[in-house]
Amino acid sequence: MEAQRYDVVIAGAGLVGLALAPALARTGLSVALVDRAPIAAPEPDPATWDSRVYAISPGSATFLRALGAWQRLPADRVAPIEAMRVAGDAGATLTFSAFDFGERALAWIAEERALRAALLPGVFEAGVTVVGGAPFVGLIWGADEARLTLAPDGEEARELSARLLVGADGLRSWVRTAAGIVAEPRPYGQTAVVANFACGLAHHGIARQWFRADGSVLAWLPLPGRRISIVWSAPEALAAELLALSPATLAERVAAAGDRALGELTPLTPPAAFPLALLKLPAAIAHRLALVGDAAHGVHPLAGQGVNLGFGDARALAQVVAARGPVADPGAPVLLDRYARRRAEPVLAMQAATDGLARLFGPSTPWLSSLRNAGMTAVDRLPLLKRALAQPALR
Ligand SMILES: Cc1cc2nc3c(=O)[nH]c(=O)nc-3n(C[C@H](O)[C@H](O)[C@H](O)COP(=O)(O)OP(=O)(O)OC[C@H]3O[C@@H](n4cnc5c(N)ncnc54)[C@H](O)[C@@H]3O)c2cc1C
Repeated sequence: MEAQRYDVVIAGAGLVGLALAPALARTGLSVALVDRAPIAAPEPDPATWDSRVYAISPGSATFLRALGAWQRLPADRVAPIEAMRVAGDAGATLTFSAFDFGERALAWIAEERALRAALLPGVFEAGVTVVGGAPFVGLIWGADEARLTLAPDGEEARELSARLLVGADGLRSWVRTAAGIVAEPRPYGQTAVVANFACGLAHHGIARQWFRADGSVLAWLPLPGRRISIVWSAPEALAAELLALSPATLAERVAAAGDRALGELTPLTPPAAFPLALLKLPAAIAHRLALVGDAAHGVHPLAGQGVNLGFGDARALAQVVAARGPVADPGAPVLLDRYARRRAEPVLAMQAATDGLARLFGPSTPWLSSLRNAGMTAVDRLPLLKRALAQPALR
């Protein structure tokens, strides 16, 4: 079978793969983007709201703007987070304000389907070859190439050859395993329950988060209008209980857990569930391979940073490849090392911060509860420390 040759093959067309593909193609490389799911823009449906939403940091928004995707997001489907109120389980509060940091917003809430629809035109405009509906079934390595085999579509299997293969295929990455990088995501024993609600009162662009005594973390994120999207990261038993509730009872439970800060809640979507896991890798590169996004790192969603880290990977890899100078080969070890070095520190810092918070606010003793609440109150009184803590999430 004759392989189709590319400079770069990106295995996985989630948000990170969709952003990376045009960023690399614009540096003059031939790029293919492959996924087992169809790679197409979802049908717009103004009457409904996607329950998968992301808090996009100002740093990620700048990257998406450079790709032309941010401008394509309909303004009435994106909500700025202008302030954030975090409550501990023993009365402590911590507030962050975009105004205090000199930012227009701490982050922007956007739906997954809107982000996909905004990224896809850039993929086609940049001349990326797109292959959807093609699960990966084989991977072999040569000195100068990686060869990825796709499941047969009709008669024959298809092979793509790349000087650089990028694994962008999510937390349980097939590519990572096939490359022999052994690392199992470590379950948190928690499931995130997500759903959207209409609310009785205006949210004024304020995101709210409660670290609760039962070890769960509840976040309310503003959507445009009087709507919110929630992420309730709950121990398995509580998550199962929440998922079994009728939509109206779940709305009542969510409203009560948030002290009815926005009045009564009305369900807009059924709840969806995402099991949570931490993934730490010894290295995000190997021979002719770079991992990006959740394939390279898994973080707890309490800081809403997973896809932002992934966009950071995409931006860094594209910058390193664009600045390759006399190095013609995009899979050259010198470039991969440079990419790995550039991402090691921000990824480690975000993993340490989110994992530390998830553990600190897990089920605990009363003295630990007092200590962490005292810590929150202390941070709230120190504007410079608050700014230092917020910087990695903003950028
Ligand atoms: C509840 C929850 C809330 C979150 N909220 C936020 C937030 O507010 N902000 C934020 O930054 N992050 C958030 N995250 C994290 C975010 O969802 C992930 O970091 C992000 O979706 C990862 O994108 P990705 O493109 O790396 O991987 P994925 O989205 O997992 O995409 C992987 C792609 O690879 C394809 N694929 C996988 N295996 C194969 C195979 N064998 N063959 C062919 N194709 C394959 C899949 O079809 C998929 O298209 C949240 C996560 C959860 C669980």
